[in-house]
Amino acid sequence: MNPIYDFTGQVVLITGAGSGMGLAAARAFAASGAAVALADIDENAIDAATRDLTDAGHQALALVCDVSDEDQAAAAVDRAVETFGRLDMAYNNAGIMPPPTDAADESSDQFDRVQAINLRGIWAAMKHELRHMRNQGSGAIVNCSSLGGLVGNPGRAAYHASKHGVIGLTKSAALEYGPRGIRVNAVCPGTISTPMVDGMVAGGELDRAEAEAGQAIDRLGTADEIAQAVLWLSSPGAGYVTGIALPVDGGHTAQ
Ligand code: NAD
Repeated sequence: MNPIYDFTGQVVLITGAGSGMGLAAARAFAASGAAVALADIDENAIDAATRDLTDAGHQALALVCDVSDEDQAAAAVDRAVETFGRLDMAYNNAGIMPPPTDAADESSDQFDRVQAINLRGIWAAMKHELRHMRNQGSGAIVNCSSLGGLVGNPGRAAYHASKHGVIGLTKSAALEYGPRGIRVNAVCPGTISTPMVDGMVAGGELDRAEAEAGQAIDRLGTADEIAQAVLWLSSPGAGYVTGIALPVDGGHTAQ
């Protein structure tokens, strides 16, 4: 993909950067000149992703981090700042999709785990990013919600609750930090071809042909297409954009 932004001299932290959309965003930010801190719970994935970027001449740092543990999220943010000297942008993207469950049968353990990663994990990362950004008086944060933050879906109540919550966090932080020079937005991907969705297809949870036919643009999205939306939201081109939940979903939520 051709870089169209210039983030030279800037630093971005990405959670869930070992796979899918987080990895695509890490590559796109690096190609646009940013130093990239890649955080993920999967040590092998994050090491490999970071090595590929440094081998290609980019500045990259691997951070093993479980975002559901606030101390680990805080340590990852602090290490990124210690290493690169500042924090200009963050893409809080780490998340999981639990198996579909009848709402009446869902265990409290599954519900809690989904909220701990998808919602509290974004809260924790954003909280500690804001601590640095408010001292700088500048910053741009993008939180990963989902089309599941905008609509419901049978069998997916816990996931959709977590993704609706991300939008509430995003809007409130945007209002709080706009006057202090920090923009906070959410991206709402539709059905995107990543290892997460590949796993759902392989497990019989999602019919790919049906999913493709359900979009106005009748294919699945790509991780690069989400990365480009994240880069735009992080860029000066979106300088007057804050508190939005941007669908990048092939028209799904227009129906
Ligand atoms: P993916 O499974 O390919 O990548 C997710 C990454 O997050 C993995 O590298 C995983 O190791 C990491 N991760 C999981 N739990 C973690 C934790 N506790 N701490 C740190 N890292 C953790 O998935 P993806 O499709 O790229 O999804 C990225 C985000 O996009 C998720 O928040 C997901 O809910 C959201 N999303 C995905 C889709 C889709 O269609 N793929 C649609 C809407 C939203």
